[in-house]
Amino acid sequence: MCVEGCMTHVRSRLNSDGSLENKNIGTASISKSFAKSCDNSPSRRNFLQGLAGGSLSAVLAMGAFSSRSALAMESGDSPDNSSNRRRGKKRLLRRGIRSVVDLTHSFDSSFPTFGGSSGISSKKLADFSKNGYNVYEHKIFEHAGTHIDAPLHFSQDGASVDEISVEQLVAPLVKIDIRERATTDSDAQLTPDDLRAWEKKHGKIPKGACVALDSGWDSFVGSKKFRNADKKGVMHFPGFHVDAVAFLLESRDVSGIAVDTLSLDYGRSQDFAVHYAWLPRGKWGLECVANLSSLPAKGAVLIVGAPKWRGGSGGLTRVTALL
Ligand SMILES: [Zn+2]
Repeated sequence: MCVEGCMTHVRSRLNSDGSLENKNIGTASISKSFAKSCDNSPSRRNFLQGLAGGSLSAVLAMGAFSSRSALAMESGDSPDNSSNRRRGKKRLLRRGIRSVVDLTHSFDSSFPTFGGSSGISSKKLADFSKNGYNVYEHKIFEHAGTHIDAPLHFSQDGASVDEISVEQLVAPLVKIDIRERATTDSDAQLTPDDLRAWEKKHGKIPKGACVALDSGWDSFVGSKKFRNADKKGVMHFPGFHVDAVAFLLESRDVSGIAVDTLSLDYGRSQDFAVHYAWLPRGKWGLECVANLSSLPAKGAVLIVGAPKWRGGSGGLTRVTALL
């Protein structure tokens, strides 16, 4: 017996290849189907493996609870948050989700940006003590904090951030761990060999995946080491090698890539080879992702909460992983 909104019911609407039985089924109709109960319960693991196997359109249904999940797992620790989190965890467990991991850095004017200047300035327009409510006006640089690069960022007429389909923004996560190499080499790059080594251990990179570089660099976000600029201003941090994205473009069907550093290219890059190879092909990238180290190499499903400002080249993004 399933509870309202359970994963089992969503699973029951999937074809064997993981796609929805009817492509026109959206969140609304699936939500409606949640109202019914069901008794056949494929395991949660099977369900998530189904997603990781390439059922991205199906995960549209997850939108029905992903916002609630993010709210419930907010890292603040006030009594209200704490009890929200407890209640949220119970609700998620009933839906077959063991945990939600926030892959987003908190953002303020001190957050390091690629260019070195602040990525946000804020003005308080109303204060609760005077006005009975709080409102801020923010001026935000598009590519600051944990954020998404849309295809338009490095192309003349690629998709803007509002044009990226939601099916592309829910992705099985493939995590490539190069932390050991990055400890001794700040210029370390994720290469095709790293991708092949991952596949040897975990199987073929699933369709629609997000391939994420875990270099451990997110731990430096509060220090100069995050940009790691030398005396000449050249930065040194890990990123993707252009040959790795060429391999993904030519041989795999991947939606996006992600890094825990300031750029898809490694810091020393002067030509943005990875940006120019990847984004114009209709792909997206995530930069300054946090907490990848807490996730397994495979099995998580990424929810990319990209902004939808019309014509934007990217922007602040709440990224969460479901396990
Ligand atoms: Zn960017």
